Amino acid sequence: MSLITVGTMAFDAIETPFGKVDKIVGGSATYVAYAASNFLQPIHQISIIGNDFPKEEIEALERRGVKLDGVEVVADKKSFFWSGKYHLDMNTRDTLVTDLNVLADFNPIVPDSYQDSEFLMLGNLMPKLQLSVINQMKVRPKLIVMDTMNFWMDIALDDLKEVLKKVDVLLVNDGEARQLSGEFSLVKAARKIMEMGPQFLIIKKGEHGALLFHKHHVFFAPALPLEEVFDPTGAGDTFAGGFIGHLAKTKDISFENMKTAIIVGSALASFCVEKFGPERMKEITKEDIDERIREFVQLVNFDIDLV
Ligand code: AMP
Repeated sequence: MSLITVGTMAFDAIETPFGKVDKIVGGSATYVAYAASNFLQPIHQISIIGNDFPKEEIEALERRGVKLDGVEVVADKKSFFWSGKYHLDMNTRDTLVTDLNVLADFNPIVPDSYQDSEFLMLGNLMPKLQLSVINQMKVRPKLIVMDTMNFWMDIALDDLKEVLKKVDVLLVNDGEARQLSGEFSLVKAARKIMEMGPQFLIIKKGEHGALLFHKHHVFFAPALPLEEVFDPTGAGDTFAGGFIGHLAKTKDISFENMKTAIIVGSALASFCVEKFGPERMKEITKEDIDERIREFVQLVNFDIDLV
């Protein structure tokens, strides 16, 4: 069972109420790969980097079973750069800079060695490029999951709607669900978005957990109340990597198993926010993840006698 992950590999500059970094490795595909590689390997990565992407970061990904045949290296250009500043609540942020750099001319190619993949994770990226990857697959993957963000809704809404017609699961945050649907109620928003294509919709609500919608069913996964939240960057991508990693490992794409997968995604995301960038994702072990999933079970487990 194998997984393709598509997205950005980037440098980020991040400011949170607890600190600031001017240049740290990030990108949607980086976080997805770190999270998913806890559940299955190899991960088949598709992305683009410039001449400035550190060799040690490439090697760290390779050690995690991330195959980089689909990652284009452009010798005379810089990697994608993103800069964001978090508000005091850490749930909302302003994007300060989005420098596309190498991404401006990116034309993703699915290598032949990736063609048999049954799971496709379209991380946050230009919708046109997400669509190009879907169209290059000779056999449609068993499950296509897509992440996106308000940035693409603002500048490429028509393309985004085209991709939506072809995916099974969409991941967005609550603000993006409202923007995409024009509805304030998340239940109404979910209904409208599912009419656009995806059969399953996950609405992330930061420290307030995540909702999974499918037909008329809805399931809620809390976020673990954490003592320290240092940097939420990449939490959404890490959630996505944990979610699809669990589904690909268990080979089960039922709604019931997706409930478990959003708990797994939430557990992974709870590690990501504990340090700047993907640092914490590099440290955690299977035991750490299992222990955290147990904490989630405790968090929502209760008995009641209804008489
Ligand atoms: P998240 O916090 O999960 O939304 O992901 C943040 C990561 O997404 C950062 O590491 C950025 O490099 C990357 N990113 C930010 N903006 C974009 C964008 N417009 N397209 C693709 N990746 C982005």
